[in-house]
Amino acid sequence: MASLSIEGATKRFGPKVALDGVSLGVEDGAFLALLGPSGCGKSTLLRAVAGFERLDGGTIRLGDELVSGPGTHVPTERRRLGMVFQSYALWPHMSVAGNVAFALEVQGLPAAERRSRVARALDTVGLAELADRRPAALSGGQRQRVALARTLAAEPRVVLLDEPLANLDAHLRETMQEEFRRFHRESGATMVFVTHDQAEALALADRVAVLMDGRLVQVDAPEALYERPADAEVARFVGRGALVPVRIEGVGPGRARAALAGRVLELRAPPGLVPGGATACLRPEACRVLAEGAEGVPARVRSVRYTGPVRVVALELEDGGATPIGAVAPAELALEPGRRVTVDVRDGWVLPPGGSGVRDR
Ligand code: ATP
Repeated sequence: MASLSIEGATKRFGPKVALDGVSLGVEDGAFLALLGPSGCGKSTLLRAVAGFERLDGGTIRLGDELVSGPGTHVPTERRRLGMVFQSYALWPHMSVAGNVAFALEVQGLPAAERRSRVARALDTVGLAELADRRPAALSGGQRQRVALARTLAAEPRVVLLDEPLANLDAHLRETMQEEFRRFHRESGATMVFVTHDQAEALALADRVAVLMDGRLVQVDAPEALYERPADAEVARFVGRGALVPVRIEGVGPGRARAALAGRVLELRAPPGLVPGGATACLRPEACRVLAEGAEGVPARVRSVRYTGPVRVVALELEDGGATPIGAVAPAELALEPGRRVTVDVRDGWVLPPGGSGVRDR
């Protein structure tokens, strides 16, 4: 397969800037998720890589080949990409093997080469034993695997996936996420996966690129994205972190002492932080509700949501902080809206100062 390199990609639709100087590299064999809310430009970027959209500025390279750039636009069919969309578009009258072989026949590949590619691809997706079945006799997940095998058999340089799981129910989605990870491991394919579902992006990819309003805001490993969001937008979008104003009182390597509602907390902090006003991102699983008067930040219960394993409580700080903080509560604690409690903040991340810098590491 090949690497993918995007430099300064810009695309306008009339006055709308859909892509605003996006630079992004995907190494050969890597699995990148492109994540962002509806309308942020994910599909436009994927379509530009596929050659369906012409860029207004910037370049796209597949391996060493310039495929989009000033005066250059290699047509889709010569980019040698694999594409997987929501609909699998399998031929109902053909067997699984027939579906995988079809495009290779159209390409005029010799029969022996076709047979070996189809066998390898079906083996990779674990469907060798169902090669003679018709699509109607397959589960939704198995059909998706046929689509993946078909993509793989064409030996693409990069596989592009545009929300392929969006139409599936929650259970099948989870199963398919595992299938995609397995497919990536077994095939070694370079993969770019578009999704607006942050949990899906974190579960699937080696790295996640977050797009907001046509700009790339952060590119990081899933853990880093969740634990160290680059700015408020990413913190809110990924894992629904609560953002609270804090006052930095002291800074050490990777840590800071931060005052929240009159209590001093020890939080994780980025380099370059200075004493003064800042914003901290607090995740529900790192905040625990305790009885009123315990050690911690005084708060009041706004609402309680039962999720099975834990109760997630939205809290208001006593000093009137506007953002509700999510926290988990032990089963024995009585909680009703309005009750005074304490929140024990065990971990949190102070957002970088200025916080909208692009980081592609
Ligand atoms: P979604 O998750 O809803 O598919 P997205 O992140 O994929 O959203 P894009 O489809 O890339 O978003 O669209 C980015 C912006 O460009 C949107 O504001 C969209 O309305 C606009 N846009 C996309 N394609 C066109 C087009 N052909 N003509 C005009 N505007 C367009």
